[in-house]
Amino acid sequence: MINIALFGPPGAGKGTQSEALVKAYNLYYISTGDLLRNEIAHETRLGLEAKSIISSGGLVSDEVIVQIIEKTIKEHPEANGFLFDGFPRTYIQCYILEGLMIKLNTSLNCLVSLEIDEEEAVARLLKRGLTSGRSDDNEEVIRNRLREYHEKTLPVLQFYKDKGIYRTVKGDNPIKEVQKDIHTVIKDELLKHPINIVLFGYPGSGRGSQGKALAKHFELEFVATGPMLDAEIARGTPLGKRIQELYESGALVSDEIVVPLIEQKLEQSKNVRGYIYKGFPRTLVQSYILDGLLRKRSASITQVIDIELPMLELIKRLDARSHTDACMPYDTTTVKIVQRLQEHETKTVPVIEKYAQVHGVAKVDGSGTFEEVFARLKSVLEQSKFLRAAQV
Ligand code: AMP
Repeated sequence: MINIALFGPPGAGKGTQSEALVKAYNLYYISTGDLLRNEIAHETRLGLEAKSIISSGGLVSDEVIVQIIEKTIKEHPEANGFLFDGFPRTYIQCYILEGLMIKLNTSLNCLVSLEIDEEEAVARLLKRGLTSGRSDDNEEVIRNRLREYHEKTLPVLQFYKDKGIYRTVKGDNPIKEVQKDIHTVIKDELLKHPINIVLFGYPGSGRGSQGKALAKHFELEFVATGPMLDAEIARGTPLGKRIQELYESGALVSDEIVVPLIEQKLEQSKNVRGYIYKGFPRTLVQSYILDGLLRKRSASITQVIDIELPMLELIKRLDARSHTDACMPYDTTTVKIVQRLQEHETKTVPVIEKYAQVHGVAKVDGSGTFEEVFARLKSVLEQSKFLRAAQV
């Protein structure tokens, strides 16, 4: 998800700039002003409460705002992200937004503040007042709205400065130029946070070779627990010997072994654009560990992919591999192969099901040649907003 808040005094051009942003990032647009005007038009309870406040240029209560925002977000579970216009407008609303984002398992990526000379803003609003039909676009109310902005809305900036996601753009340039500048800061902000792609698939589905190729193509770090463990075995350390024993018995390697290795890998590759995880998380416990590792780095899961193949095809592939030099210590006998497939089914499939509910999982057909499967996976990732951000 990408979530952006557009900030600025009345007349800064938030509404105008929103249109292009919504299109570029495929966002759902939430303007609290529009939502309130809609409530007023339908003469709802909330509308009646807000009507006189809006006409005088004051701010509607946080209680009303939280209700209309929550309702709108709930009505759009399919959204790729939200663009907030006119919200948060008070320091309290910053906390409301934090809570709403946590509930969606996401966060605000950037608050873009449009800076504009105040007299220019007044002139724009007076001009808009000639055609907008808005009761609050006349000079007296406009001055009041600006007063409210200074008193109650400007403190919002400090909240986001502290969070490190506050960015400014000069709002009195021509529309196209402002649009370009907004894209630049958003792109910048998005690329600051690493992308995290989780690649699933049964053993034999090709997730290892595909993951490696995807990482190379998209310039991401490949985080594969298997090779990390193999490296430990190759070093002949006591830890490596324990891993070897577990491999041979077909059991999963314990979290106490895997997690520090992953943490070390993330620490060593801090400046990369993102990661592709393969072979992790493998259990529900590990999925919570990954959540924790990402949260520690102010990141979240960008995309989950599951490579699908019929069971018989998987067995055929694993059996074929066991007769080649690529045979892994855990693939040497049929019993071990079946055990690994079973481990995936009982322990990893529930993780995929959990992700399907929280993030959505892209199912990719794993049949055909390596190139065919790679092309399918590549196309899924090319649609990812974070990767697209680089091209907008
Ligand atoms: P706008 O369309 O954003 O200029 O909003 C018009 C009016 O709606 C404002 O002057 C406020 O009275 C009210 N309003 C819009 N958003 C909010 C908000 N987040 N908090 C409080 N009042 C709001």
